[in-house]
Amino acid sequence: MNILEECSGAKRIGISGHVRPDGDAVGACLSLYLYLKKCLPGDPYIGVYLEEPAPQFNAIKGFDRIITDFPEEDPFDVYIVVDCSKDRTGDAEKYFDKAKKTINIDHHITNTGSAMINVMEPQSGSVCEVIYDLFDKDKIDADIAKALYIGIIHDTGVFQYSNTRPSTLTKAAHLISYGFDFPKIIEETFYQKTYVQSQITGRALVESIRFMNGKCAVSVIDRKTMDFYDADNKDLEGIINHLRRIKGVECAIFMYETGPLEYKVSLRTTEKVDATKVVTNFGGGGHARAAGCTMHGTFHDNVNNLSKYIAAQLGEE
Ligand code: AMP
Ligand code: MN
Ligand code: MN
Repeated sequence: MNILEECSGAKRIGISGHVRPDGDAVGACLSLYLYLKKCLPGDPYIGVYLEEPAPQFNAIKGFDRIITDFPEEDPFDVYIVVDCSKDRTGDAEKYFDKAKKTINIDHHITNTGSAMINVMEPQSGSVCEVIYDLFDKDKIDADIAKALYIGIIHDTGVFQYSNTRPSTLTKAAHLISYGFDFPKIIEETFYQKTYVQSQITGRALVESIRFMNGKCAVSVIDRKTMDFYDADNKDLEGIINHLRRIKGVECAIFMYETGPLEYKVSLRTTEKVDATKVVTNFGGGGHARAAGCTMHGTFHDNVNNLSKYIAAQLGEE
């Protein structure tokens, strides 16, 4: 697909990523925004509609242009959804549904394509790598490079996870040649945590429970605890990574309460458990090693329900 050709002549273009946007979703939306703004003639309207991202992503140019409420809009000529299918864009789905042309660019294995034009690359570690391939390299600049780089480091855990491929590093190598301060970007957008984020992480780890002979670890943060720390979902981002690192754990589960008897669930696994085979039973999706879903019921019921599908893969009772 040639993204500039697909957008040529369009007067109104919209871009969205998934709800609770992560670094890959924000980097993908803003890199596309910056690239299309720079390359399309005639200065078309380009809107990025996303739930409010975590504040550290203001390192990316265009962050302050993100529209976080979803007002009524005239139909878009082209609507582009990245890092998810249209049904995970929250209130932006209405723009997509009314758009004249729709494009979906993603790397989730569970996304089978939800647009008129679909670019699905499940073997890609991040959607920013897929978008990199769509860009004319002569037209990338330091701001676009930084946006793509942030997406790549977030979804690959700074090139640690098994979704990192040789081509991931080749692309990242080219991107850092634009000369932005990448050590600062890695530290400030990926590793650095506020005091409250660190405290609530500590709380989640102290209260974590291991089961299935230590092969699973689970922790939950309820509404009351979030209120106590004045924390929101963006403050809980790194907790699952700590649970995943516990020695012997093949499947880490983290959930937080999003409403009465409603939890957002995250799974991280070793090669012994395919996380998508667990969460797709509950309407979720993602990748083999990292996936998520929303579950209804008590914390204990949810753990029990997940356990059935995890135990089946681990060969546990
Ligand atoms: P999370 O645990 O929310 O960080 O998500 C892990 C991976 O699974 C990310 O790539 C998410 O985009 C994806 N994911 C999480 N929840 C869902 C869902 N309900 N449907 C599809 N993909 C999801
Ligand atoms: Mn994402
Ligand atoms: Mn992604």
